Parts: sequence; structure tokens; C-alpha cells
Amino acid sequence: MDRSFLGWPFFEARHRDFADRLEAWCAANLPADHTDVDAACRDLVARLGEAGWLRVTAAGEGETLDVRTLCIARETLARHDGLADFAFAMQGLGTGAISLFGSAGQREWLARTRAGKAIAAFALSEPRSGSDVAAIETTAARDGGGYVLSGEKTWISNGGIADFYCVFARTGEAPGAKGISAFLMPADTPGLDIAERLEVIAPHPLARLRLDGVRLPASALIGASGDGFRIAMAVLDVFRSTVGAAALGFARRALDETLARASRRELFGAPMSELQMVQGHIADMALDVDAAALLVYRAAWAKDNGAPRVTREAAMAKLYATDRAQSVIDKAVQIHGGDGVRRGHIVESLYREIRALRIYEGASDVQKVIIARQMLGSRSVRSG
Ligand SMILES: Cc1cc2nc3c(=O)[nH]c(=O)nc-3n(C[C@H](O)[C@H](O)[C@H](O)COP(=O)(O)OP(=O)(O)OC[C@H]3O[C@@H](n4cnc5c(N)ncnc54)[C@H](O)[C@@H]3O)c2cc1C
Repeated sequence: MDRSFLGWPFFEARHRDFADRLEAWCAANLPADHTDVDAACRDLVARLGEAGWLRVTAAGEGETLDVRTLCIARETLARHDGLADFAFAMQGLGTGAISLFGSAGQREWLARTRAGKAIAAFALSEPRSGSDVAAIETTAARDGGGYVLSGEKTWISNGGIADFYCVFARTGEAPGAKGISAFLMPADTPGLDIAERLEVIAPHPLARLRLDGVRLPASALIGASGDGFRIAMAVLDVFRSTVGAAALGFARRALDETLARASRRELFGAPMSELQMVQGHIADMALDVDAAALLVYRAAWAKDNGAPRVTREAAMAKLYATDRAQSVIDKAVQIHGGDGVRRGHIVESLYREIRALRIYEGASDVQKVIIARQMLGSRSVRSG
């Protein structure tokens, strides 16, 4: 496994130390048994928390999220076990709004999520509002001192096993994006139901939620009323690069498996690695991996070094790393021949794992729109 990237100037000694320690932990503890994904996720959250790895997923009072550490963690975990990466990532995404905008009372949850004693979820998407976040229909009506939430959320990771949801609903200060607010909704709040469990090609806990008159106190509001869209975008600004990092981890694993296979497998009386077309694939895969790593860690470094927003950098990192990982993994499947599509083979599972990353937290097409708008916007500022 090529770990030379840790010598790049994006990192400090603490990042290299973190990467070394997590690598050793992963080698000793992963992969987990995925037979029952709910049980596996609960167990992974508990074990990751106990070992201290979830501390970095949230920021307490006076702390900041270190995006490079989050990326190294996701890359390392994804390389060993996609479900372990998922369990880690959702603790961060689900608490992101609290880390960035939460009150002292809401922050009390963070001690539990960081210790692996509570599971977090991020409930933004709806049946008619996925890419079009501003089209959210779930309502949060003011009622006495609190709110009553009604509507549906779908594709919610950790849906069904989460202890609380960071949920976004329309409070109606203005139409579209300006009339949305964020709330902390404990999973045992009356009126919240798991309407449907969703099965996807790389299984993990996922659900459609029904909110039928869910009463929340005023203290459940995260940040200011009407700021929900801004809060969601700020959370994604931190975590979007980490999706690229997970893709990078999957791609590195695919490349490692390919190098081992090509050296081991004999074809036409010689190791497969001596075939120039195979070498061409390996060169393409290595280039994709390094270029993706540069974009991911550029975005993470920029955020950690005080850039108020890294919209363009994070969009580029997510778009490029997920798209190229798909291509790297596809080549790995090809080079593995029949074994590549055999159920249970590592490259077969990587092939299934990678696909959703090009859809969630902003589909690839959406990232292109974001990048183009950033470029066109900066041009009009320059020429204006
Ligand atoms: C495995 C998985 C886990 C998820 N976890 C969560 C979660 O934890 N919390 C949560 O809130 N949501 C979650 N989601 C939802 C995810 O964010 C949405 O699926 C995603 O935003 C796309 O929305 P949609 O499915 O409604 O597709 P649509 O919005 O209908 O988009 C369909 C396709 O249209 C294309 N498209 C969209 N916009 C544009 C555009 N402007 N220009 C050109 N083409 C465009 C894209 O190719 C996109 O894939 C998850 C989804 C999956 C698959």
C-alpha cells in the first residue's frame, strides 16, 4: 500500500501519527461481519467510539473539525471496510450542524456520539426534494413555545438505528431556501415512525421516515430560525471532501488488490503484470488515485487553514474522486476476470460500494453545476 501521500505538505506530524495508529487498529479489527448490517453498524460505532476514533467526528466548545483528520480516517477505514467508514462518517454528518451551530444543551449529545454511545443521522432528503434541497416540504409549525413537524424524509442513513436525527423542515420565513430550519429530533419522539427500510446495492441502515405531528421544544432549533439551508450547506462544505476521501480509500484498495493479482496470476506463461495493456491499466489507476488524493487533501487543507468556504475545492474533490474511483474499481474488476464479479470477492464489493457516492451529498452533475457557477461567479467579480 502506497502511503507516500502522507509526506505531502498538506499534513502535519499529528496527521501522520493518526494515520499510523488508525491503520494498525484497522488491521487488527476489520473487516466487521456484515451479516446483519444494523447490528454491525451498532457494533462498529461502539468499537470505534471505545477506541477513541470518533472523537474527531465532532467539535466541542472552542474546538474545530479538522477536515484532514476526517479525510484520513475515512480513506483508511474505507480501504479496510466500507461499513466501518459509513459508521464513522455518519457520526460526523449527523452531528455536523451541532458542532458548527449547536447550543450548549445540544452539544451534550456530542459526548455520547464521540464515545460511540449514541448514533447520529442527517435527515435532509425527501421524496420530492433530493438534489433540489430548497423544495423541502416537511413543515415545522410554531406551536406554543415549540414546533410541530409533519412530512416525510427518505434515504436517511442510520434511519432505524439512530438515537437522534438532525432534521430539516420548512418554518416558512420566506419561500424556497430561506424558509428552512434545522432541528435536533431524538429518535424516541412520539410521531416519528420508520415508514420503510430501504435496501441498496451496498447494504447499510437506510430508511424513509414519517413525521406525523412530531412535537419538539424551542430548544431543539439548531442555529437561527430560517437558517437551515445555510446550516446544511455549511455542514456539507466540511463533509463533502470526506466523501471524496472515502472514494479514495476504495480506489486505493482496488489498486492494491490489482497489483497483487497481476503479480500473482500467470497468463500466457508469464505473470499478468508483464502484459503491457495491464501495465497501461495500472498506470491509469495510479494516476487517478494520486490526482484524486491531491484534490481531496487540497480541499481539506484549505478548509483547515481558515478558508471560510471551500465550495469549489470540495465540489472538485468529491466529483473527481468518486468518478475516478468508479473507473479504478471497474478496471480492478476487469483485471480480476471472473473472480472480479464473484459475490463476496473484495473487488466485487468495492464495485457495489462506490456507486452511491456519486449520488449522495450532491450528485456528480450537481457538483459540475457548483464548479461552473463558482468559475462564472469569480469571472464576473474579476471583470465587474
Ligand atoms: C445510499 C444513500 C444514502 C443516502 N443518505 C442520505 C442521508 O443520510 N441523508 C439525506 O438527507 N439524504 C441521503 N441520501 C439522499 C441523497 O442525498 C439523494 O439521493 C441525492 O441528493 C439525489 O436526490 P434524489 O435521489 O432525489 O435524485 P434527484 O434529485 O431526482 O436527481 C436525480 C439525478 O438527476 C441529476 N441531476 C440532479 N440535479 C441536476 C442538475 N442541476 N443538472 C443536471 N443533472 C442533475 C443527477 O444525476 C441526479 O443523480 C442518500 C442517498 C443514497 C443513495
